[in-house]
Amino acid sequence: MSSSPLRIRTRFAPSPTGYLHLGGARTALYSWAFARHHKGDFILRIEDTDLERSTPEAVQAIMDGMHWLELDYDEGPFFQMQRMERYKAVISEMLTQGSAYLCYSTPAEVEAMREAMRARGEKPRYDGTWRPEPGKQLGVPPADAKPVIRFRNPQEGDVTWQDMVKGSITISNRELDDLIIARPDGTPTYNFCVVVDDWDMKITHVIRGDDHINNTPRQINILKALGGELPVYGHLPMILGPDGEKLSKRHGAVSVTLYDEAGFLPDAMVNYLARLGWSHGDDELFSREQLVEWFDADHLSKSAAQFNPEKLAWVNAHYMKQLPIDTLCEQTLPRLNALGFDVAHGPALADVLRLVLERANTLVALAQEAALFYRTPENVAEKLAPLMDDTVAKAIADFAHQLTSVEWSKEAIAALIKTTLTAHGLKMPKLAMPLRVLLTGETQTPSVDALMTLLGRERVVSRLTAA
Ligand code: GLU
Repeated sequence: MSSSPLRIRTRFAPSPTGYLHLGGARTALYSWAFARHHKGDFILRIEDTDLERSTPEAVQAIMDGMHWLELDYDEGPFFQMQRMERYKAVISEMLTQGSAYLCYSTPAEVEAMREAMRARGEKPRYDGTWRPEPGKQLGVPPADAKPVIRFRNPQEGDVTWQDMVKGSITISNRELDDLIIARPDGTPTYNFCVVVDDWDMKITHVIRGDDHINNTPRQINILKALGGELPVYGHLPMILGPDGEKLSKRHGAVSVTLYDEAGFLPDAMVNYLARLGWSHGDDELFSREQLVEWFDADHLSKSAAQFNPEKLAWVNAHYMKQLPIDTLCEQTLPRLNALGFDVAHGPALADVLRLVLERANTLVALAQEAALFYRTPENVAEKLAPLMDDTVAKAIADFAHQLTSVEWSKEAIAALIKTTLTAHGLKMPKLAMPLRVLLTGETQTPSVDALMTLLGRERVVSRLTAA
C-alpha cells in the first residue's frame, strides 16, 4: 500500500489580548503562505483561555487584520474556550495512563522548594514530591486540598527537534519541570491546550514567533506522551525596530489595520512582511501569487529582521502605481472626502491622480496631494509678499492676460511661460514660485504648466488676476 502524501496543515493561533500587529501578521502570513504553497490547509485558532486579558474586540481586530491582508483560512476560527471538555477528557486519560499526576504541594511549598534550589545554585523546579514512581510511597492528600495536575516529564534524555528556521535544537529533560497542565479549579493551562489542539487539528507545521521556543520541548514531551505525531516546528526571529530595539508601538508596531487607515495597500503590506524574514534571491517586489509559488522553508532567515518604514513606503508606492486608475480613484475618493474635499468642484480625479501619483507613497499622501486641486488657496497674500516685485507683478499680469486666449494645452501653456520669461527678463523660479502660490496657496506643487492645464482656464485666470 502506498502511503498518501502528507497534507500540509498550518495554523495561526493568536491570543486575543490585543490587535494584530506586524509580528503577528507576519506569523499569520508565513503560516498561510506555507499552507498555500503546499496546497494544504490553513487554520485559525483563537487562544482565548486567558480570560482576564482576552476580549471579543481583540478577536474582531485580529479577524479584521487578517481580512484586510486577505489571509483566508480553511478552518476555524476555533476557540479554545469552546474545547474545555476535550482538554479535560485528555487530562483524565493521562491521569489514568500515568503520564500526569495530582500534585498537592501548595504554592507556598513550591516557592519554598524553588527558593532552596536557587540557594544551592540549582535551576528551580518542582521537586517531585507528589510524582508517582515505582516503589515510592506517596503522602496522604491533605483533606479538602485542591490539587493541580502535573505532566510527568521524562527525567532522562533530551528533546531534539529540527527547527524549520533555526536548525537542530536540543534541550535536556533535566532542564524541564513537571509542567502544571491543570489548575486547582480543573482548567487546563496554556501549553497543554496548544498541544491537544495541534494534535486534534492534525497540524503538520507549527510556525510561530521564537518567544515560544521554550515551550516547544515541553509541548513535544506532552505530545509524545499522548502518542501524537510530532509536527515540524519553525520559530521566527523577532522583528526589530529601525533602531535595533525590539519592535514596539513607538516604531509602528500597531494594529495592521492602522496601516490601512494610513493609506497602505494590503498587497504592499503582504509583500513587505514576506521579505521581513524570508527571501527569494534578490527579489524585493513580488505578487501574492509569486509568494505562494516561492514560499519555502529553506529561505527563512535565522536572524532578526529590522522593520524599515521607508522601505515599506517604497513598496507601497510601487503597488499604488500598479493599480488601475479607476481603482486608485475609488481608493482615494473617500480619503479626499474625509479631508473635506468635494471633487465635483474641480478637475477629473483620474487626471489629478495621474499627475500627483509620483509625489505620494501612501493613499493618504496621495489624497493630500490631490487636495491641492480641490481647495481654495489660503494665506496667499502672506506667502506671496516675499516673492513679488514690480517686474514679477507685471509679468504675471501679462501672462494672465495672454492665458485668456492661449490654446489650453500643457505645451501651449509651457510655451507661453517661456515667452513671458524672455519678455520680462526673468528666470523660471522667479515666475513659477509666485504662480504656484497664487494658484494653490502652496510653494510645493507639480510643474506649473501641468497644474494649470488641470485647474482649467477659468480657475487659473481668476486666481492670477485676483492678486
Ligand atoms: N497564542 C500564542 C500567541 O499569541 C501563539 C501560540 C502558538 O503559536 O503556538 O503568542
